[in-house]
Amino acid sequence: MRELYLKAPAKINLALHIKGLREDGFHELQMIMQSISLADRIKLKKKSGGIVLKTSHTELPTGEENLAYQAAEIFFEQNPELNQGVEIYIEKNIPIAAGMAGGSTDAAAVMKGLYQLFELEADFMKLHQDLKAIGSDVPYCLKGGTVYASGKGEILEPLPFIGEKYLVVVTPAFKISTPAVYKLYDELQGYQKFNFDLILDNLRSEEEIDWSLDYKNDLKRASENICPEIVEIKDIFKNSEAEFTRISGSGPTVFSVYDSREKAEKVAAGWPRKNDFVTAVKTIDSY
Ligand code: ATP
Repeated sequence: MRELYLKAPAKINLALHIKGLREDGFHELQMIMQSISLADRIKLKKKSGGIVLKTSHTELPTGEENLAYQAAEIFFEQNPELNQGVEIYIEKNIPIAAGMAGGSTDAAAVMKGLYQLFELEADFMKLHQDLKAIGSDVPYCLKGGTVYASGKGEILEPLPFIGEKYLVVVTPAFKISTPAVYKLYDELQGYQKFNFDLILDNLRSEEEIDWSLDYKNDLKRASENICPEIVEIKDIFKNSEAEFTRISGSGPTVFSVYDSREKAEKVAAGWPRKNDFVTAVKTIDSY
């Protein structure tokens, strides 16, 4: 095999709870992660040596700062006998620094893809271990789907897929730094109680998802403070027959769930704020 084409899907958070601060300075999290059909497209092509990364997005780093580049570096360090390199092309469709794990999903896809390209075996646990070093969200992106993520986000419990739901995803033209949101969160408020067990019972039961449960995002206040446009976007969604509206991750992406594809597409087509990234997508199962 000389080249390989991959899809790297984005995620949203159906719930994000901060349990407290850990001794290592990170936050102890409880999150429900869900993959969506919005995806970057990646091409991997063998070359004689080294790593070259190109991308359709002019603002993305193409060297070691790119998480996909880091994944390739780890791969070649782990497999020194290969004596070859790779050219990576990322067609960036997921908004950057938007709370949809765009960088993490590229890194996971490149790592998995390189094992395929070079026809080497690697089990999930090995890939999980290697990718954890790049970022806490990266192991989740290996398989995606509906997952309960805890710890820093790297402890994963796969849940039954919530089924195909139709969503509108809106990202204002405003990049949010995840560490900045957590920092403001720490300054703004104490830890809140969250009835996460009921959410987990609901999701593990494979019954229809009950949106009236505590599907909250604890970073809401901090991200709205940093990006007040989030509130304007939520106000538009309020008048759109959405079943459920939340901020994804640390924002500024906001998504709404609809009971039909037609409704979601209509909301996306009539979106009034012209500078936002807007797309109608659906939830996807693990890949
Ligand atoms: P998360 O939801 O995991 O917090 P995010 O979606 O908010 O992440 P990303 O899009 O992953 O954020 O980008 C965060 C930072 O990572 C940006 O500053 C970006 O320059 C950098 N980055 C490195 N590699 C990539 C990549 N392949 N795609 C997107 N961003 C990348």
